[in-house]
Amino acid sequence: MTSTLPSNLSSRTENPDSLMIPVSQKIKNRLQEQGVPFLANDNIAQYIENGELECLEIEVAGKVRELLKSLVIDIDNDHNTEETAERVARMYLQEVFKGRYLPQPKVASFPNVKDLDEIYTVGPITVRSACSHHLVPIMGNCWIGIKPGERVIGISKFSRIADWVFSRPHIQEEAVIILADEIEELCQPQGLAILLKAQHYCMKWRGVKEPQTSMVNSVVRGDFRKDPSLKQEFFELVKQQESMIGY
Ligand SMILES: [Zn+2]
Repeated sequence: MTSTLPSNLSSRTENPDSLMIPVSQKIKNRLQEQGVPFLANDNIAQYIENGELECLEIEVAGKVRELLKSLVIDIDNDHNTEETAERVARMYLQEVFKGRYLPQPKVASFPNVKDLDEIYTVGPITVRSACSHHLVPIMGNCWIGIKPGERVIGISKFSRIADWVFSRPHIQEEAVIILADEIEELCQPQGLAILLKAQHYCMKWRGVKEPQTSMVNSVVRGDFRKDPSLKQEFFELVKQQESMIGY
């Protein structure tokens, strides 16, 4: 069995050796050839070819089946776990970690023709993620503050981008920075602020078992960083939004 693909060999080749290479390895080869990182919170959609995601789901299901067997669960006779491997693989690739495998949702931006420069906040936006360390949920809310620049995007688009970014294994400190980078790229605001409040199930469900502890972090860029009163205004607006929903 060949363990690596020559760089000039297409993954769609009919070479029987290549058919034995797991699809995850083919994708990994492509990433490594290009020197592209594939950490847990990276998006790798552009390195996955048509039809490979379906094959990856089958491969992952096989590995989850092995994991269940190693946990000494009788998946052949237990009606409850019979199809758990397939469910878990589908959940990872199509739902909770889809932000790694699917391309960024299409977001149209428009020129800021009226030169809007008043700040606004959008939130709360639901945060559904998982921690990179234990792969258990991180659940919370985030608020995004914008001082518009050259381009503007519709407010619902912030939720779509946030969902795409958070649907990957993360640590909260990096998640907020990745979201900020994506929003900056989309609408180049004069100022950007993001506040994220979340509960980590690796602290609630296991480990120290603190059910109420949450983690709060923020990122402020551009005018929000330069002007303390603008930053203050953002946190005030968030407080108002929180009280509106009794959060
Ligand atoms: Zn954790």
